[in-house]
Amino acid sequence: MLFDARIIRSQRRTVAVEITATGRVVVRAPMGLSEQDIAAFLEYRRPWIEKHLACRLPPLSPFTEEELASLLQKAREDLPRRVAHFAPLAGVGVNRVTVRCQRTRWGSCSAKGNVNLNCLLMLCPESVRDYVVVHELCHRREMNHSPRFWAEVERVLPDYRVSRQWLKTKGRTVIGRLDRG
Ligand SMILES: [Zn+2]
Repeated sequence: MLFDARIIRSQRRTVAVEITATGRVVVRAPMGLSEQDIAAFLEYRRPWIEKHLACRLPPLSPFTEEELASLLQKAREDLPRRVAHFAPLAGVGVNRVTVRCQRTRWGSCSAKGNVNLNCLLMLCPESVRDYVVVHELCHRREMNHSPRFWAEVERVLPDYRVSRQWLKTKGRTVIGRLDRG
């Protein structure tokens, strides 16, 4: 799930989602509704949720061409170094590392071992950069988000949950600046 939702259960019969004034996603659900059903409901309501979360982004100035070029340059020095550091720790090989500015994802990894990373990671804390690198490297072992995949991530970065949470709650404010450009 992309967003972090607070679930409040009560005697109600239907499930509903709302976004609080502080931008928190709240799901109100009947007592007996399973986590899976709630996840499916959130998936179904995702377009609505994303649209409303986007409206609540703090006003940020869009990047200038110069800012983006400088970010890209820094990222092309920093991120491949992190990949080289973590690949042996994850016990995987890497084919090619590509760094680009992207509005849709922080990173990806192909079956052939080509790792693609977003230059906007340079605006995230270092621990978050490490997490995204390790996440993509662990896809060399598991091309999914199964418990086995997360166990691999945790083995390399025991504190990865903090970074994952940071991306969920703050990542949008970084990536959102591209849309305003
Ligand atoms: Zn993934």
